[in-house]
Amino acid sequence: MFIDGKKYDSSTTSCTDQIRVLNPATGELVGTACLATSEDVDFALDSCHAAFKQWSEKSFLQRSAVLSQISSWLKEKPLREDLAILLTKEQGKPLREARREIEGVTEVIDYFVGLASMTHTDFFTSKSNGSYSFTVKKPLGVCASILPWNMPALVLAWKAVPALLTGNACFVKPSGICPLTVLELAAIFHEAGLPAGVLNVVTGSGSAIGNQLAQSPFVKKISFTGSSEAGKKLHIAAAQNNKRVTLELGGSDAMIICDDADIQECAKQAVHARFFNCGQTCVSPKRIFVFESVFDDFVKAVLEAVSQLKIGNGLSEDTTTGPLSSFEEQKKMIEYVESVRKEKASSVLIGGNVPPNSDPKGSFFEPAVLIQVPMTSRVMTEEVFGPIMVINSVKDMDEALKYSNETQFGLGASVWTNDLRQAKKAIEGFDVGIVWVNQHMKMLPELPFGGVKESGFGRENGYQMLNEYMETKTVVFKF
Ligand code: NAD
Repeated sequence: MFIDGKKYDSSTTSCTDQIRVLNPATGELVGTACLATSEDVDFALDSCHAAFKQWSEKSFLQRSAVLSQISSWLKEKPLREDLAILLTKEQGKPLREARREIEGVTEVIDYFVGLASMTHTDFFTSKSNGSYSFTVKKPLGVCASILPWNMPALVLAWKAVPALLTGNACFVKPSGICPLTVLELAAIFHEAGLPAGVLNVVTGSGSAIGNQLAQSPFVKKISFTGSSEAGKKLHIAAAQNNKRVTLELGGSDAMIICDDADIQECAKQAVHARFFNCGQTCVSPKRIFVFESVFDDFVKAVLEAVSQLKIGNGLSEDTTTGPLSSFEEQKKMIEYVESVRKEKASSVLIGGNVPPNSDPKGSFFEPAVLIQVPMTSRVMTEEVFGPIMVINSVKDMDEALKYSNETQFGLGASVWTNDLRQAKKAIEGFDVGIVWVNQHMKMLPELPFGGVKESGFGRENGYQMLNEYMETKTVVFKF
């Protein structure tokens, strides 16, 4: 844990149980973290609450100066590289993806720092009959961030940076699978100038901490990223106290490839997007619908690209596909592929097994390509959070859109075409929070990000986030 500017382990707190963080590529112990008790959670919340007052009284410019300093530190090569290595060791992603994630943190900070002059604190909205009206913006108080394991550093930045800039204190709960990089980041934030208590990190059980946050009078907002199932439980708990909640949940993005698209480029991009982070990305294209006339060409190009992927320990520079985050996830993937093998209409064209020469202590899995899978299959109805690509042929855009929307999820979707009419139809037809045209997965700090349906509600990123972390008080006065 990291509370009040100090690191805590089981020797320094009441927590006697520990989370053991294992390297999913080797099974080696990377580090440990506390399994926090409810007293630890209270301690961290008290510390955030106490620190909030002074932090919220600083100006936007003072707060943005601290954030700028943090960004500068994170751009220093040795520090950036150490963080990327730690992230690869605890999560498994290839080093180049880990480096990119740390870079992403600095991009989020730099974007929000650039907004500091848009103070949004106080502006006149009307003047009539001798009375003046305006709104005053105030930070909310203690804001909680609950993080997933797949992109812990980036998601921390999405939540904590706008909250800190607007004067809130942050209580952060990382995933037990991947807490170490977040703990390290908290320590760096503090050393670079963030006052003690303004950002505390507590490690432990998601449901126990989630319920405690939902009940705490100090917590004014909970921003959650994770599975739809856990998000729903948190939402119900938070509703008991009418706490504001943002839910960034799972996805089963569709990708539609039209007959006029550049098939080689589409296949290359599809393989990158689907197998990035070993397929463990909320917005990766989990269901691909290809117009019949280009289906065979697309599949051929995909298979060629997949055969070039190099599975291995993420610390090797040539690895493109690291292990899954755990053996539990590996088992799930094996079961998915087995279930498809039993279906007559579908075929598993490549992969789908534990690689024969891989380290048995690592949770590796060969990227799989499945075709012509029925819409009722589990790989179509559930969120497949691993390296399994599904490609089905479709007659036309109407059929492609029908299947794309035939899911409980609604995070992102993409269409690949040079025909503006097809692009327009898809943009209007996809029932999702983010649509890409001729790309997939591109995320920028200035673009609002989030989903609909079971993918959650609320958005992250974009200047609108500043308002999400502030309360509006309307003032009407006459004198
Ligand atoms: P998860 O739901 O298992 O855990 C996410 C976090 O929630 C963890 O910190 C966990 O400890 C905590 N948690 C678990 N139960 C809780 C409860 N009842 N109350 C409060 N917190 C609880 O998810 P995961 O396996 O870590 O992450 C993978 C999932 O996250 C996938 O579904 C993926 O699509 C989703 N995800 C979504 C986005 C997005 O922006 N939409 C981004 C990344 C990941």
